[in-house]
Amino acid sequence: MNGPAGQRLGLAPIPDGSVNLRMLRRTLAVELAYRPGGLLAAKIHLKHVSVITTEGYANRPGGSQSRFLAEVGKEEEKRNLAIVTEEWKNARAGIKPSGPGARDLLDFFQSVDGQLDDALRTAPNVITNDQQVRGMLMKRAKTLHLGTANYCWFADPAKALCLKLAGTPTADRPLIGMCDSARCPQATHHPRHRPVWEKTVEQNKVFIRMLGRGQKAERTCLEAELARAERVIADIDAASRGPTVAAGMED
Ligand code: SF4
Repeated sequence: MNGPAGQRLGLAPIPDGSVNLRMLRRTLAVELAYRPGGLLAAKIHLKHVSVITTEGYANRPGGSQSRFLAEVGKEEEKRNLAIVTEEWKNARAGIKPSGPGARDLLDFFQSVDGQLDDALRTAPNVITNDQQVRGMLMKRAKTLHLGTANYCWFADPAKALCLKLAGTPTADRPLIGMCDSARCPQATHHPRHRPVWEKTVEQNKVFIRMLGRGQKAERTCLEAELARAERVIADIDAASRGPTVAAGMED
């Protein structure tokens, strides 16, 4: 949880000092539950017989599960705001997003900067505080969903490639399991996603080496996947000024 993979998924670091699993039971359940497929993982963690049990409390006013889900929602909101704020600061420092949704995200960040400039021009004596910035970034934070290899800014269901592929274009949530982030206009890639794409490159190279001569269709398919992953990495590096900066962000 304290390593790069935990950071990428927005997990809160485990504090120093001695900890045991019992102490972390609820914290881990909350951390699990607000991720894609997380409710099922939380069910397993809580050792509930059925996921219905895990969800079921939600319908009891004041029940422990409704508090649990409210807590999950609050944590999700906090995590999303922290991610948007970090990416806004990164973009200002020249570490920009890449991917099909990058232009849109950068336009949004520019509009935030413009509003801050306007606020300073019209009221130069009023110091722009964190609260103002948080208010501006919150709208975008509400659209954020975490994929393992990308961020999904689910602002418009009509643009969601996963929903088009699934034939459910009006759904109110993305289908992260069907995400094709290299082609969806709502997806962005960031330096913290680089290790996932590196792994994809490695795995595809291994699979290609294992193919026999007759497996032409499989080879074509894997080579396309490999080229796509290499392209994503090159785009991440170009937008973020190279893998050195990207690696530094994981520390
Ligand atoms: S394809 Fe991926 S980025 Fe696009 S809406 Fe679906 S989950 Fe989000």
